[in-house]
Amino acid sequence: MHIAEGYSLDAAVHALPKLHLHCHLEGTLRPQTYAQLADGAGAKVASGENPYAFDGFPAFLKVFMAVCRSLRTPGDYARLAREFVLDARAQNVVYGELFVSPSVWRFFHPELDVAAALEAILHELRDGTPTFSLILDVTRNLGPQSAMGTVELAASFRDRGVVGIGLGGDEAQFPAELFAGVFAAARAADLHTVAHAGEAAGPQSVRAAVEVLHAQRIGHGVRALEDAGVVAMLAERGIALEMCPTSNFLTGAADPDRPHPIFALAQAGVPVIVDADDPALFGTSIEAEYRYVARRAGIGMLRSCIATAIDKSFAAPKKKEALQAALAGA
Ligand SMILES: [Zn+2]
Repeated sequence: MHIAEGYSLDAAVHALPKLHLHCHLEGTLRPQTYAQLADGAGAKVASGENPYAFDGFPAFLKVFMAVCRSLRTPGDYARLAREFVLDARAQNVVYGELFVSPSVWRFFHPELDVAAALEAILHELRDGTPTFSLILDVTRNLGPQSAMGTVELAASFRDRGVVGIGLGGDEAQFPAELFAGVFAAARAADLHTVAHAGEAAGPQSVRAAVEVLHAQRIGHGVRALEDAGVVAMLAERGIALEMCPTSNFLTGAADPDRPHPIFALAQAGVPVIVDADDPALFGTSIEAEYRYVARRAGIGMLRSCIATAIDKSFAAPKKKEALQAALAGA
């Protein structure tokens, strides 16, 4: 590719409206801010070390936990959200449903007023443009009882910026079946449901997220590709996969020496969405992930991923129309 062409492609990607449908707010914490909040992290950053360095999926979960441990007060959460909004605006993010993991906050800081921390975040996000809401992520490792508490918390914030619940954590050890009752309770409370699956466990985990939990979207789902039946089921039912290439390459969910599964899955008719997962922790950004897709498969594929994100988002029909119009005009 000619340099000028590459430049204009990048400029076009920058100008496109972007949607966060798979982004963990805690995972957007700027390393410099983490250095100020976390014990010992400041020295690492000062000596030029990456405070977020890790090797493999279990080690990544530990880094994520350490970031959650560094956030102690509602004021810390407000700062996290404020800096996130600035970074999102700079990349033309226009809409987002962001994950937060209050059960993990409480695990590290039992004294934290979780509702006040959520309020603090929502206050920062409520600023008008872009439009953001929250999905409270249940942590598989903490079991169904803790998960039920998260559903109750989500329900109590349902008209105040929380739109659903998600499922994260260790999918290999804590399968979907454990959370069937939790997801049923969420649906009964009028909450949307999504689930991470097919990232650290195989295609059966994706099938269970859809058939047992009735998740409306799947986080990652890269390993669905190992089973043609699961791929066909996703395509038939129109269940979108929220795909985060850099995250998958760094955690080992996808082979970094091969093109990301997003391309094969899109070819197979599965609705695919692009996002960055934990952008700060993975040293990436939503714009960099969009660029990766556009450089490999063209701006047309990226536009279709954005259109899919709008369609599969939990936004109201009018909002969806406005977002599609913004995409068409960009
Ligand atoms: Zn995730």
